[in-house]
Amino acid sequence: MPSTKKPTAGNISRRETFAFGATAAAIAALPASSAAASTRPRPARVDVIVVGAGFAGLTAARALRRAGKSVVILEADDRVGGRTKSGVVAGERVDMGGQWVGPTQTELLALAAEYGVASIEQYADGDNIIDINGHMARYKGETPALPDADLEVFGALVAQLDGYANRIAMPKPWLVDQAKTWDAHTVESWMLANVTSESVRSLMRVLVQAVFSTEAGQCSFLYFLSYLKSAGGLEALISTRGGAQDRFFPDSLWQIADKIAAELRQFLLLDAPVSLIEQNDQGVRVTTSKGIWSGDRVIVTAPPPMAARIDYIPPMPARRDGLTQRMPMGCVIKVVIAYEKPFWREQGLSGLVLSDKVEFGPWLDRVTPLTRGGALVGFFDGGPAQDWADRPAEERRAKVLADIALYFGDQALKPADYLEEVWTRTPLNRGGYVAVPGPGVLTAFGEALAEPVGRIHWAGTETSDVWVGYVDGAIRSGKRAAAEVAKLL
Ligand SMILES: Cc1cc2nc3c(=O)[nH]c(=O)nc-3n(C[C@H](O)[C@H](O)[C@H](O)COP(=O)(O)OP(=O)(O)OC[C@H]3O[C@@H](n4cnc5c(N)ncnc54)[C@H](O)[C@@H]3O)c2cc1C
Repeated sequence: MPSTKKPTAGNISRRETFAFGATAAAIAALPASSAAASTRPRPARVDVIVVGAGFAGLTAARALRRAGKSVVILEADDRVGGRTKSGVVAGERVDMGGQWVGPTQTELLALAAEYGVASIEQYADGDNIIDINGHMARYKGETPALPDADLEVFGALVAQLDGYANRIAMPKPWLVDQAKTWDAHTVESWMLANVTSESVRSLMRVLVQAVFSTEAGQCSFLYFLSYLKSAGGLEALISTRGGAQDRFFPDSLWQIADKIAAELRQFLLLDAPVSLIEQNDQGVRVTTSKGIWSGDRVIVTAPPPMAARIDYIPPMPARRDGLTQRMPMGCVIKVVIAYEKPFWREQGLSGLVLSDKVEFGPWLDRVTPLTRGGALVGFFDGGPAQDWADRPAEERRAKVLADIALYFGDQALKPADYLEEVWTRTPLNRGGYVAVPGPGVLTAFGEALAEPVGRIHWAGTETSDVWVGYVDGAIRSGKRAAAEVAKLL
């Protein structure tokens, strides 16, 4: 049923505020300049206030609008997209955040189709390079070419991990029988106790960095398994063909967020960081530097460590507050490098390099029909991202090019263009790809990830049961939170 409440666009007035005691008085006393600073949308009462205009927030707001509810989206940044963001390299729009989509990421694929945004297959012809534990090889396909004995261990390990993951019922991995044991381990400590091959351990460390942007020693083994479950197995996470890196969007994935935002523009306010959320039995009130909104419910889509920066009255329950103190963002720096031509293809290489010798990586080919010449895309992930984030940009660039040159030759040292995004230093994201709990956190605090606190509901990729950490998971979480809220209005 559409809401009968009408959004009351206009300056804050006593009629629009409700009994929040001292705060109500404070609102009434807001200086005129504060209200004047906000242009569109103006402070008002709405059904639902959405905090954050990443994919989760935009999806939640879109679903609520389509259900006839009044909404406002309050975004701290001066742009939409959150952990997706575009940049321009050699005249082409590229993704500096989320980029790839896989065949089982059906929510993102459906949204892309709805907005007419086409994707292309990730280039995977030619040989990949693996260089792990001193063993370097060229190989084709998805299975990393370890020496035979190690390959056998790796195959058995993948089956074992997928078997464990399959025992988990998402979105509550902490309910699995072995939850306490698995959550007491990091991926690293579990491997040290259970995997004898140093090559396999080293490969797994590189894969954990590549998938989580964190170190194996910082990621709960239970969280790792829940990720596998949410994605459909380790192979789905690490593969190009058929996996999470199957396709990407020339002209950017980010443009989908931009298109949704264009549809919602009259309900969207940028540069509006939410600093305070108050609630009582009558509703919620949300304070930003651009004004104050009141509503029936609020959906917070900021990832846990960012949600922790908001003040709440009354304060968050201990479990929710504890969770947000214990779930830091991963560390990542993303780099796109343009070349006059994709010279690695001439060497019979796909562009993919997995190595424990270099700090930059993995990297892959990023050529589209729009690319003039060649392009690679790669990452500093986890520890290397932390180590390189605060160094001068020129030093980082020299390191990136030298690491690529080690495998692709000196042509790598002469890029035509170069762009990086140091996510670990962007104040409104503070890292990526995802927030990752260490050991002991999920079992003690996990319940608070998506459990509403009164009128405050939580979305964001971290709260998804499918494709946690990915744009697809963010979209699913936005839809779930919108449905949760719509039922209560
Ligand atoms: C480098 C990188 C590469 C990635 N690669 C991929 C990939 O290839 N494929 C894939 O699917 N995923 C990828 N991801 C992950 C993907 O981008 C995220 O999972 C997804 O974008 C998360 O969306 P979200 O809406 O849950 O959160 P976010 O995008 O983080 O949105 C939250 C929003 O809340 C805002 N906010 C925070 N605090 C406040 C506040 N107090 N007031 C108002 N607003 C606030 C933020 O500014 C942000 O816009 C990648 C991420 C990164 C960083």
